[in-house]
Order: sequence, then C-alpha cells, then structure tokens
Amino acid sequence: SLGYFDEKCPKSKAMIDRAKEYIPGGVQHNLAFNYPYPIVFTKAEGAYLYDLDGNPYLDFLQAGGPTVLGSNPEEVRKEAVALLESCGPSTGLFHEYELKLAQLICENMPSVEKFRMLNSGSESVIAAVRVARLATKKKKIIKVGGAYHGWMDQMVYGTRIPRTGRFEAHGIPKAYTKHTQEVYPNDIKALERKLRFNKLRGGTAAVIVEPLGPESGTRPVPINYNKQVRALCDKYGALLIFDEVVTAFRVGMQGAQGYFDVMPDLTVFGKVVAGGYPSAGGLGGKNEYMRYLAAGLDGDKKIKKAKVGGTMAANPLSCVAGYHTLKQILDTDACAQAGKAGDRLAKGLQEIMQKYQLPYVVYNQGSIVHLETSGVLFVDVNFAKPWTLPNALKQIKIRKDVMEQMGAAFMAAGIVTLAGSRLYTSAAQTDAVIDEALAKFD
Ligand code: PMP
Repeated sequence: SLGYFDEKCPKSKAMIDRAKEYIPGGVQHNLAFNYPYPIVFTKAEGAYLYDLDGNPYLDFLQAGGPTVLGSNPEEVRKEAVALLESCGPSTGLFHEYELKLAQLICENMPSVEKFRMLNSGSESVIAAVRVARLATKKKKIIKVGGAYHGWMDQMVYGTRIPRTGRFEAHGIPKAYTKHTQEVYPNDIKALERKLRFNKLRGGTAAVIVEPLGPESGTRPVPINYNKQVRALCDKYGALLIFDEVVTAFRVGMQGAQGYFDVMPDLTVFGKVVAGGYPSAGGLGGKNEYMRYLAAGLDGDKKIKKAKVGGTMAANPLSCVAGYHTLKQILDTDACAQAGKAGDRLAKGLQEIMQKYQLPYVVYNQGSIVHLETSGVLFVDVNFAKPWTLPNALKQIKIRKDVMEQMGAAFMAAGIVTLAGSRLYTSAAQTDAVIDEALAKFD
C-alpha cells in the first residue's frame, strides 16, 4: 500500500518528509492514525475533503467530531468573518457572543443551569473534577475502563485499561493518578463495590462516564446503565459527571442526557461547542456546583473556588462559531439529519459485509458509526491474569495494526475515517453522498 500512496499523493509525501525535520515524528494530528503517512489536506467543503495533490475524499472523520453541519458551512463562516472584521479573534475581554452561546446551551441542555467556556475537552474534564472535589470535599474519581476523558495526568488512557498498548501514557508519576480509579465497563456491581469501598476511606467525589459507553460507545452501554450510575451516585453522595465532549449537540441538542433522560450534576463539553473552530471546551451544570467557578464580583466569598484559566478561553471567535453552529443545528434539525446518514451508512456497510461474508461488526448510535474489523473488540489487559497477559497484549497489537491498515485502505479508496474504525456522519451527507461512499466501500 505504501507504493500506492506514493503514486497518488506525491506532494503529501514530500511535505511530510520535510515536516519530519521540524515536527516530532512529522505528525501533529493523530486522529486518523496517519498510516502509512499523513495526507496533507488543503480544502474542506460540506461532505468532501481535498488533498494537496487534488484528490477528493469523502469525509467521515468530521475533524474528529465537531462538524455536525459538515465542513466549513457558509452560515457559520460568514458570521466568523464578520466577527474577525469587527474585533479580531480575541481581546481577553467580554463579548456579547459569550452570553449568547451560554444562554443557548443552558436553554437546550437539560441539566445545565450555568456554562463556562474553556479551551478543550481535556481541560474541561479537569475543571469538572476540581469542582466535584470542592463540592463534595472528597478526593476519589471513578472512571470506566477504556473511556477517554482527555490527555491530562489524572485521566489519560492507560491508568488501567489501555486501548492499543499496555501503557500508553508515560511520564506521569504514580502519585498523580492515586485518586483515579477504574471499574470494568457496564459492570454496575463493580461500581457499587468501589463506591462502598471508598465510603469507608474518605468517599468518592465523582463518577465520570462517557454516556454512550467507553470511547464514544466502542463498548456500548445497556440502555439503563446511566440511570443505574445516577442512582448509585445519589446513594453514595458522589457527583455524576457526563463527558459529553462527543455527544453534546451530536446525539441531539439535548445531548446524551436528553437521550437517556438522566441528569448529570456536571457536563463536560468540547468539539461541537465551537463548531470545528479552535478552543472548544466547556463545563456546565447546576448552579449549586458551577458557583465554584464564579470568579467575578458576584462570586460567593464563603466558598473556596476552583482555579481555571486560559488566555484563549471563551474568545469571541470560538463563541461566535459555537453560537451560530448550534443555532444552525437547532434550526435545521441537523443532528437528526446526521443521524439519518449514520443509519444509512451502517445499514449499507452491513449489507456489504453480508455480501462478502466478512466477519466484521458495524453498529451506530445515530451519527456515530463503529466499524470493527479486527475481531478484537475489547481486551482487558489489566484485568488479565498473568498467564493470559501475553495473549491479551498480542490481541491489542493485532487490533491496532488492523485498524491502521483498514484506515489506509479506506484512505486509498478516497474515504477518510477515524482510524479505520469510527465514522462520523454529518448533515451535509445526503443519501447520494452515503451511496457514493458505500460504492467505494464495496
Ligand atoms: N472526552 C471525550 C469523550 C473525547 O472524545 C475527547 C476527545 N476526543 C476528550 C474528552 C478530550 O477533548 P479534547 O481533545 O478537546 O481535549
């Protein structure tokens, strides 16, 4: 396959060879896995991407999730350009769009009374953790094995259950993850055992979940799992944090909390919240908890505050892009449109698998389509016994290799995916676009 890319994308190859001189590994975006080497993109429009050599691609990466409307929608771009012309991307001071965006989010996200814009999902998770610790005066955070909550020290992959290797995150002293615990996915009894155990040792500040299941539903949850987690949090006095970085304004304007009808105490935002523009993150929740972030004159002086910051946080460009993206999603029912594209894609892929008798699995939750081609859906390395560990590690390596090669094969066919195993759909993907993609997959 390397030769194929050399022929199809010579300009990309030459640029990446040069990039290796200045950028570690020559890669700064690792979402698409970049195998055999990153392809350089110069144009993004609706459902299509174009590379430096002029090749067109169907876009199922969707920038890693933010572009529910499709790439570079005119309605948002127009407003972003007007903002740039009037005040530039940032001033460090208040802009009306901060208010407009926060109001729109609070009006649509059922559990959110107050919203604070931040720079990324990763840092917003840490803000949530700090608020939970202040509000409960407890330290322990429980996450679900295999879930991704960003790359910060306390939450990064590999604290227990890695996805593609035994220890993915080095350079973190053990003490930093001392209060982070993991439980087996979908095992509600294991969660209760952990909460009960913690109760005798200072308690649990929060349970954080990806509401569709670890890694945006790569390991899907049973329909009542989130409700059960909510009930356990109430029973043991822990806050429930929903990491809706992927799901908010993609599953629907009410996020996964609306879909499952489960109200978290705190909600972490990212991605769609700035519509694919930079600095996408935020924390929302009940006022009772969000007041721990109230730094201004109206802040409650009697409580200790969590420190959050960011020179670029809530910059006018992110806020204007976020506001007009969400408004457009709302006005055009874009989540449902994107979900319809996801349904059509998953159904079509299933038919192709049947036609060729392929032992693969495809399933979708609306506009989030999962494609498993490695035969290794989930390997529990840290729950493996010493004698099964070598085999578990081998399987993880197989999964990574297969995903990389699938991703490259799709790329060669003119389809960009998230690491060959996840495909985000958007409202820009009409039936004709999905059918074009299915013909390529076939
Ligand atoms: N949580 C989840 C569920 C995510 O998918 C991601 C990013 N893929 C993050 C947190 C981290 O967000 P960011 O990349 O903006 O730091």
